[in-house]
Amino acid sequence: MSRKAEPFRIKMVESISMISREDRIKALQEAGYNPFSLKSKDVYIDLLTDSGTGAMSDHQWAALMLGDEAYAGSKSFFKIKDAVQDIFGYEYVLPTHQGRGAEQVLFPHLIKRKGQYVLGNMHFDTTMAWIELNGAIPVNLVIDEAYDTQTPHPFKGNFDINKLESFIEEKGPENIAFIIITVTCNSAGGQPVSMENVREVRRIADKYGIVVNFDSARFAENAYFIKKREAGYENKSIKEIVREMYAMGDCFTMSAKKDAIVNMGGLIGIKSDQALYQAASSTCVPMEGFVTYGGLSGRDMEALAVGLQEGLDVDYLESRIGQVEYLGEELRQRGIPIQWPVGGHAVFVDAGKFLPHIPPEQFPAQALTNELYIESGVRAVEVGSLLLGRDPETGEQKKAGVDFMRLTIPRRVYTDRHMDVVVDALVKIWERRDQVKGLEFTYEPKVLRHFLCRLKPVD
Ligand SMILES: *Cc1c(COP(=O)(O)O)cnc(C)c1O
Repeated sequence: MSRKAEPFRIKMVESISMISREDRIKALQEAGYNPFSLKSKDVYIDLLTDSGTGAMSDHQWAALMLGDEAYAGSKSFFKIKDAVQDIFGYEYVLPTHQGRGAEQVLFPHLIKRKGQYVLGNMHFDTTMAWIELNGAIPVNLVIDEAYDTQTPHPFKGNFDINKLESFIEEKGPENIAFIIITVTCNSAGGQPVSMENVREVRRIADKYGIVVNFDSARFAENAYFIKKREAGYENKSIKEIVREMYAMGDCFTMSAKKDAIVNMGGLIGIKSDQALYQAASSTCVPMEGFVTYGGLSGRDMEALAVGLQEGLDVDYLESRIGQVEYLGEELRQRGIPIQWPVGGHAVFVDAGKFLPHIPPEQFPAQALTNELYIESGVRAVEVGSLLLGRDPETGEQKKAGVDFMRLTIPRRVYTDRHMDVVVDALVKIWERRDQVKGLEFTYEPKVLRHFLCRLKPVD
């Protein structure tokens, strides 16, 4: 694979080191076989998440000094407002402390009454939680190919348009609160949504009079995939593609900790609906803070305004997504089953196929994640049965389509050599995979159990 070198050089470094295998085994035992409870100093290469873990640029660090820490009318806020208008073409913007802050402020105004449905390609977990907390029911309508890791499809994040329309017809448009398009589709493996699919979703939304919200954490990575994979977009700039996409939405919620490359921050954008903006503003003030800071300091907003633009740089996107692809390609060549093609921010290893002797209720992806840590000090994360949890009504384990181990790549942080460490470690585990054991609970919290649960290997 021919790739250009990184379009940046390194100006500051943070030392990392690997503790001994003995100490890693001990650390994992103390963490209850749950890497969320590991101390980051005991982790060599941290691929838990790409959220808030990116490296800010010299321009972002310099911008911090310009932060205007005014409660009301901060000039830093207006830089965000200008950036949002410039990139997305949306009139109104509310900053929030992170993505879930945007969800908690906006969703109550999109959900009109309990029992309404929110239709998504695939909902992110906090998004699902805020929909449910507002009394609505999240429904996933992604194409079937998303659940088949071995069959390639350029846009596995697409809505199944027939399913979408049939669902609306069956339940009645008055029972649909809104449609949410998650770009890229995190839960399906960072898989993109095509422009054509967005257009189709818009057509259906118009036909039935339904609002379209973009869950926008990885808006720029999605645009990059459109440029690379969809006919007619190869010569368009990332910004032009983003503009065209967002012209088909009504509003967005965004975790700025991803494509806007800041360590903390979120946004709500509203295209033109002033009444919705006013309603959301009244919720923002008590929950997140006044409308010109929403939980962020002036310096945070400065870095965010710069990051929104930097995230659109095509050379950066090529290097970032190229690195994720490099890791995926290296694993695939060695026969390790991964979601293919790889997504924008992570390689998703199909742990059910890697460890077929471990049943889903013994959490194969968590077992693999733990084994990877012991082998190499690399911290990945389970995205499967453990994360999915139990049906609140019956208490039964929900069925994950696939038990994934996610190797999430922070932006501008690690080199390809770090990726090679991951590959070498997984190859070693692959060779002795039949010795890896499943896990059982010693402590299982009722809500969002994967964060705080404790486990032990089954005998
Ligand atoms: C991260 C993320 C969120 C939530 O954002 P936070 O900043 O973590 O609160 C929502 N949706 C998607 C798709 C995300 O990736």
